[in-house]
Amino acid sequence: MAENNKGSMKFVVILTVVVIGLVAVFVVLDSKNNSGSESNSASSGEPISTEGQPTIGESDAPVKIVEFGDYLCPACKAWSEQVFPLLKQDYIDSGDANLTYINVLFHGEDSELASSAGEAVYKQAPDKFWDFSKQLYAAQPKEHQEGWLTEEIIVDAAKKSVPSIDIEQMKQDMKSEEIQQEVQKDETLVKEQGVQVTPTVMINGEMVEDPFNYEEISTKIEQAIEESNE
Ligand code: CA
Repeated sequence: MAENNKGSMKFVVILTVVVIGLVAVFVVLDSKNNSGSESNSASSGEPISTEGQPTIGESDAPVKIVEFGDYLCPACKAWSEQVFPLLKQDYIDSGDANLTYINVLFHGEDSELASSAGEAVYKQAPDKFWDFSKQLYAAQPKEHQEGWLTEEIIVDAAKKSVPSIDIEQMKQDMKSEEIQQEVQKDETLVKEQGVQVTPTVMINGEMVEDPFNYEEISTKIEQAIEESNE
């Protein structure tokens, strides 16, 4: 009898530990969802705040695509040259989707410099932001090369995309508190969304597994369009 009691006591103790463990897991998950910090909200489908960010396409498009990119990242150059034009042609120009660009600073000071330039161009000529992005990615060497990004390259890309740009103003803006805050705002989004690779692409708040898999992307977009019609 004593043995039996011990046995059932053991069982109760184990069960209690398991229950406490489960409760702890739920509490952790819940607090993560509530705070939105450090959690990968990709699966939660929470929309990302894209207010004040460069966005191409209709503002009320049913599908919101977000690209987390870094002008210093070779894969981002490839994505902007291979995948972005397809998205623009198939879904953005038709009004089904819009796309927002968020800076990622994985390449340190050079990323910060390029991001500040992008934000400064966006401030002066919002509708030319994508031309500037294209020019800056075009300037990225095909072969990996440290330190390729110079002020000269930035100025050249800015002039090519916005012939009327005030370069002195742009340089001042790049160092301004206002632009630094914009860059910081992006950095906060990167952390909030748990972005770990560039490019990272989200469709209506859901992370795309392989941003170079156009079939996956278009399937997700088509689904999102259908859902918006329901
Ligand atoms: Ca931004």
